Amino acid sequence: MKKSHDHNKCLKTAIINAEAICQKAKTKLTPIRKMVLELIWKEHNPVKAYDLLSRLDTNKCSAKPPTIYRALDFLLEMGLIHKIETMNSFVGCHHPEISHFCQFAICESCGSLEEFCDESIADIIKNNAKKIGFKIKSQKLEIIGRCEKCS
Ligand SMILES: [Zn+2]
Ligand SMILES: [Zn+2]
Ligand SMILES: [Zn+2]
Repeated sequence: MKKSHDHNKCLKTAIINAEAICQKAKTKLTPIRKMVLELIWKEHNPVKAYDLLSRLDTNKCSAKPPTIYRALDFLLEMGLIHKIETMNSFVGCHHPEISHFCQFAICESCGSLEEFCDESIADIIKNNAKKIGFKIKSQKLEIIGRCEKCS
């Protein structure tokens, strides 16, 4: 994903997907939501909330932190981005059009992230949860290690 590629394409696709998903959900990708999504999609690596805020500052926009956090909540709810708990950061989802359970391979050295969505892993978790009568609301797996470049 981070090999040399036309990232403008990634960004464009992400926005087109987001607009389609919002339209389907009968809601709107407001300018502020779109801007936050674009900032997250500036790269494939997860971005911390305060980095987002500082990126915004350099923009002409003077959005206040609560506005940004509300936009982040919206994007999370729509499945357009993921929150990476171990890094307290956010990353754009590559395929928000399908609801999925995700696994994230996170590099502790360079902070890069790859998302894979293996249904069989999700199923194992679902089955185990079922055994203990646990109802899953969402699930994601954060796998810490070293990426190909760093190992
Ligand atoms: Zn890209
Ligand atoms: Zn995803
Ligand atoms: Zn790395």
